[in-house]
Amino acid sequence: MEQIKAAFFDRDGTIIEDVNYLKSIDDIKIIQDAIYLIRYLQEKDYKIFVVTNQSGVARGYFDESFVIKTHEYLYNLLKQENIFIKKFYYCPHHESNAVDEKYLINCDCRKPKPGMFFASAKEFNINLSESLMFGDKLLDIEAGSAAGCKSFYIQQFFNLQQNFRLNFYKSFFE
Ligand SMILES: [Mg+2]
Ligand SMILES: [Zn+2]
Repeated sequence: MEQIKAAFFDRDGTIIEDVNYLKSIDDIKIIQDAIYLIRYLQEKDYKIFVVTNQSGVARGYFDESFVIKTHEYLYNLLKQENIFIKKFYYCPHHESNAVDEKYLINCDCRKPKPGMFFASAKEFNINLSESLMFGDKLLDIEAGSAAGCKSFYIQQFFNLQQNFRLNFYKSFFE
């Protein structure tokens, strides 16, 4: 089976506004600058994945069914923008702060650890060294790098002038 290349995206602060533990679907606000970048990468044949830490589950702020519901909603919202997320990966754990013991673990999936990348690579036969990671925090960059992906702060792709945007993308990805 042929390997695919992936573009991984963090969720909060990267493709939707970071509202500090999203607890309501109504608070989802897409970041338009991320849409432009994702569309460009899709056209370059990257499959799009989301990798997100959701320790709000461990902390008892919301449950896993809310995370799943959020991702279904976001999937459909992005579909209207012609963006197709292959899969949403999330880590519900926390090593020291959890109301339910089943989430109280020092897991391999919480970024900056690369577990979610390895899981996706196995599931979708992804060539990680040909793949990209975008996030708004250092832990995103660390996780992507630990997985062997070229990793970027998303902020450098925000607020680009329209007539400059494509050339800026090309300077990184072509
Ligand atoms: Mg983030
Ligand atoms: Zn985890």
